[in-house]
Amino acid sequence: MSAGPINFQVAKQVPIAQVLAHYGVQLHATGGELRGQCPLPEHTSRESRNSFSVNIARNLWCCQSQSCIHARDGELGGTVLDLVARLERCSIREAAVRLTEWFGEVTPVPVQATSVSQTNLPLRFQLSGLEHSHSYLEGRGITALTSRTLGIGYYGGPGMMQGRVAIPVHNEAHELVAYAGRSVEGEDPKYRFPPGFHKSQELFLLHRAKHTGDHAVIIVEGFFDAAKVWQAGHRNVVALMGSSLSDTQAGLLQKHFRQAVLMLDGDDAGRAATDAITRRLSQIMEVEAIHLKPGVQPDQLAPTEMNETLSGHLRPGRGLGR
Ligand SMILES: [Zn+2]
Repeated sequence: MSAGPINFQVAKQVPIAQVLAHYGVQLHATGGELRGQCPLPEHTSRESRNSFSVNIARNLWCCQSQSCIHARDGELGGTVLDLVARLERCSIREAAVRLTEWFGEVTPVPVQATSVSQTNLPLRFQLSGLEHSHSYLEGRGITALTSRTLGIGYYGGPGMMQGRVAIPVHNEAHELVAYAGRSVEGEDPKYRFPPGFHKSQELFLLHRAKHTGDHAVIIVEGFFDAAKVWQAGHRNVVALMGSSLSDTQAGLLQKHFRQAVLMLDGDDAGRAATDAITRRLSQIMEVEAIHLKPGVQPDQLAPTEMNETLSGHLRPGRGLGR
């Protein structure tokens, strides 16, 4: 327990998205807010599945369910202090103590609707006890060495990543900003992200690729594509975490590389994305596109196939055989 005076103002500014992530609460982003099922113990209504909303810029929450409001003595919502006090069934004072313990003394972030809603704040926690050897990873051909090095592993602990393979996502500055939670038994959704995480603001593995000194970067769609390319010895790989390229991602590529080798999925979406991204990137850098056979994804290529596929596109000595 904290011995000194409690700084309520500081505790109140812990980003609400991080507090919700701490509890494994999953919300979806709509406009400048997050919305979803109410996590409060007072919430008993089974009908209102979308009544809980969060204003990220103002760091406030509310639940519109009448019975929930009634159970909270008419309060519509509140700050992160109120939220933690209700979830933990403790006093506001105790909530402030716990928030400070969990997240440390956060430096207040200047509130600016655009920057707050688009920037991924570093996570204040790290999952521990990840299992780097797991049948799911093995099934996808990811070795324990690769998953340990990249920090990927099965998570059995509580929260939104429970029972999933957690994949850490870092920003350009090497700060952990999210975990992607991949379902391992075909459950939906395939991937879970912390509430408020913007995929479009990051490139998976950029924090590693930028240090290789390569002029060229290999761009793939998914986490496992990137892990397999990496495992085949090409450390200059990043994943878009999807099949579109945002302006922020284009800017990051331009900042760190001069040549891009696009290797997206060999399906219709991948081909359309390859054309669109080639057009976009060729304005700012040299681009080569690899067209995989129909139905083939980079993560399905054996290391030798991977190297053969890439060798024609990477100049010798720049990324091969590391
Ligand atoms: Zn509620």
